[in-house]
Amino acid sequence: MPFARLALRMPLLALIHRSASCLIMCGAGLQSPGYARMIGTMNCTRCKTKAVLKLPRHNAAFCKDCFNSFVHDQVYKAIRSQEMFGKNDRILVAVSGGKDSLALWDILLKLGYKTDALYVNLGIGGYSESSQEKVVHFSKTVAAGYGAVLHIHTVEREGGAGIRELAMMVHRPTCSTCGTIKRYQFNRIAVEQGYDVMATGHNLDDEAARLLGNVLHWQNEYLEKQGPSLPASVDGFAKKVKPLYRLAERELAAYCVLNGIDYVVEECPMAQGARTLLYKEVLNRLETESPGTKQMFYWGFLEKSRTTEMPTNIMEKDRSTLHPCSLCGQPTTAETCSYCKLMARANTSTAG
Ligand code: SF4
Ligand SMILES: [Zn+2]
Ligand SMILES: [Zn+2]
Repeated sequence: MPFARLALRMPLLALIHRSASCLIMCGAGLQSPGYARMIGTMNCTRCKTKAVLKLPRHNAAFCKDCFNSFVHDQVYKAIRSQEMFGKNDRILVAVSGGKDSLALWDILLKLGYKTDALYVNLGIGGYSESSQEKVVHFSKTVAAGYGAVLHIHTVEREGGAGIRELAMMVHRPTCSTCGTIKRYQFNRIAVEQGYDVMATGHNLDDEAARLLGNVLHWQNEYLEKQGPSLPASVDGFAKKVKPLYRLAERELAAYCVLNGIDYVVEECPMAQGARTLLYKEVLNRLETESPGTKQMFYWGFLEKSRTTEMPTNIMEKDRSTLHPCSLCGQPTTAETCSYCKLMARANTSTAG
C-alpha cells in the first residue's frame, strides 16, 4: 500500500513543514489532511494503481514507481537537452546533506552516470555535524554500492575557523563568505581530481526565485549566467550544471521520502531572513493560484535566452577578462582571487 507507507512518514513530513523552505512545499499541500483525503481517491495517471502524489502543474497523479520514473525522465531530459554530460564523463556532485543534492546523487547513480560527491563541512555547530552524518550515511548505504566516492573538505582544517568566525574576521556577511569558499573549493577539487563536470542540486524553485531576484534588480550579468549549464570557459574552471532544474522542491522532498533517503531537514541557521526565501514564498503563492507558474517563468526565460542573441558570449567574455590568480592559479579577474584575498584577511586578523 504505497499511500500507507507515505502516511507512516508523516512525522518526517511534519518536520519538513517547520523548515523555512518547506513553507513553500506546504503551500502545495503535500501534508494537509485535505490532501490526504483527496489523494486517497486518486489513481496513477500512468498505470491506474493507487496514487501517492498529485502534481498539479502536470495535471497528474502518480504511484511510487511511476513517480520515480517521472523524476528520472525529467533529469534525463535536462541532461540531454542542455548537453550537460554523457555516460563516459566523470561527474562531481556538490552535496550538502539536504534533500536536493542527495536526491541528485541518487538519481544520477541510478541513471548510470559515474558520479562522485563532495561535501564541504562549514563548521556551523550541530547543523554541520548532522548534515555530514546524513551525507556519510547515504554514501555508505547507497553510493558505495555503485563504487562512488565521497570527498569531504573541512573549512576549519584549511581556514583555521568555521564559516561564521571567518566571516567575522573579514567583516563580511556569513553567506557571502560561505559562497566564496564553497565556489572555490568545489571548483578546485573538480579540476584537481580531473572531473569533467560539477553538478549542483538547484531545483526549479531555486532557479525561479533567483531569476525573480535578478529581474527585480535587473542584474544583467547574472541573468546571462542563469542557465542550467555553464561551460568551462577557461582553463582552471570546471563545467557547472544543474540537472534538477525541471523538478520542484516539493517533488524532490517527496522523492527522498518515498525512496527512504534520509536528509537534513533543518535549514542552515544562517539562511534565516534570506531574500531568496521571500521570493520563493511569493512564487509559491502564485503557483497555488495558478499551477505551472514557476515552470512557465523559468523555462520561458530559458527558451527566450536560447532564441535571443545574447549581447556577449559568456565564453568570449570570460576569456578576455580572466587570468590565473597570482597565489593559487585559479581563474580570476583581479591580481589575486577572492578566496586568496579572504584567507589573507583572515590570517591578518588572527595575527593581529
Ligand atoms: S545559508 Fe549561508 S551560510 Fe548557510 S549554507 Fe547557505 S550560503 Fe552558506
Ligand atoms: Zn503508476
Ligand atoms: Zn587564489
